[in-house]
Amino acid sequence: MTHASPLPDGLPGHPHIARHGDTLMIEALPAAELAQRFGTPLYVYSRAGIEGAAQAYADAARGRPVQLRYAVKANSSLGVLQLLARQGWGFDVVSAGELARVLAAGGDAAQVVFSGVGKTDAEIAAALRAGVQCLNVESLSELERIDRVAAQLGTPAPVSLRINPDVDPRTHPYISTGLRSNKFGIPQAQARQAYARCAALPHLRVRGIDVHIGSQITQLGPYLDALDRVLDLVHDIERDGIALHHLDLGGGLGIRYADETPPTPAQWLDALHARLQARGQGHRQVLLEPGRSVVGNAGVLLCRVVTLKDTLERHFAVVDAAMNDLMRPALYEAWMAIEPAQARDGRHARSYDVVGPVCESGDWLGRQRLLDLREDDVLAVLSAGAYGMAMASNYNTRPRAAEVLVDGAQVHLLRERESIDDLLRGEQRLTL
Ligand SMILES: *Cc1c(COP(=O)(O)O)cnc(C)c1O
Repeated sequence: MTHASPLPDGLPGHPHIARHGDTLMIEALPAAELAQRFGTPLYVYSRAGIEGAAQAYADAARGRPVQLRYAVKANSSLGVLQLLARQGWGFDVVSAGELARVLAAGGDAAQVVFSGVGKTDAEIAAALRAGVQCLNVESLSELERIDRVAAQLGTPAPVSLRINPDVDPRTHPYISTGLRSNKFGIPQAQARQAYARCAALPHLRVRGIDVHIGSQITQLGPYLDALDRVLDLVHDIERDGIALHHLDLGGGLGIRYADETPPTPAQWLDALHARLQARGQGHRQVLLEPGRSVVGNAGVLLCRVVTLKDTLERHFAVVDAAMNDLMRPALYEAWMAIEPAQARDGRHARSYDVVGPVCESGDWLGRQRLLDLREDDVLAVLSAGAYGMAMASNYNTRPRAAEVLVDGAQVHLLRERESIDDLLRGEQRLTL
């Protein structure tokens, strides 16, 4: 995509992030102005973008027994969680830290599901003390562990068993989670035995059944395959005399980064409900745990060009954001659109590798992008609202970026930029 042909207003997937003439706008504010005011690298989220995506789920769920549980790991900033808590969403957390964030943001513990393959005793205890809706259990041994912790606390533990349905979500291998070879969930073949054990343990209360097959899923087929397997199991488990109150079908709905055409939440829920009804299960409570599709397209990462550098092979644009700020390209060669904050006329356009300053050849944000650049120009990496800041690290002793939320023509600082002092805090110099 060249800067010379401006983005259409309301680029698919980015309705609140659009080019007006030569200027990239986040709602009513120019991206370049935000970069100037708050510095770079900077994560910018559109409030209308997040709330619009959340509303699409709420609209699709209306009139159906569906409970929405935002997957906190996609973007766990308190301000983002607050927006969702205020819309009545529950949350899917995978650590005691995420649970603490949800509570700090005003989330309702009774609408929290706690997932994850390696919950510690301390995390299980934190979840039970908070009064979560349920723990999604990933192994037989975890059942015993939860029973033991629940006994110590004198609180029964609500549980749901995460089943590995062995379906291929047809996404990147690193974000596939429902294949037999993945570490997640209880193998389908062990599920009945696991539920029987659950019913026998005195401090567990069975609530439901859970699957989550992967992320950035762009087709409905894998979801329906997983649902079919879950419904087969529900039939067997209930015949064994164990009632299941809910089906948790996980998250994973994809978003548009380039030319993907993922289903909308309405298409996803319509397809799920059609299948449930076809199998006489339309009355079932369904939980969904979307993350990426709620926040992904509502965020951008702004960075500034530090150096333009030509080698014999390539043109490099070295920017002040790096893999520590946005890991997706380095981790799974993810393609994310890169747009200038202020487009030039295109006369000096060339194919750039947009890279960070970190000492790794995997440290790139985009490769072979046709851009017309000068040093100090501001660039925006689009669709960076999910798995961006949430995965940021301090590699190379780089302070993490600031985050802001744009609301019309207003902007709110969600998180201040880390300082180098922040990074050194807690370290002890040797005294021996
Ligand atoms: C990561 C995750 C999600 C959210 O996945 P998205 O692709 O961001 O929608 C939901 N549930 C569980 C258990 C997860 O691990």
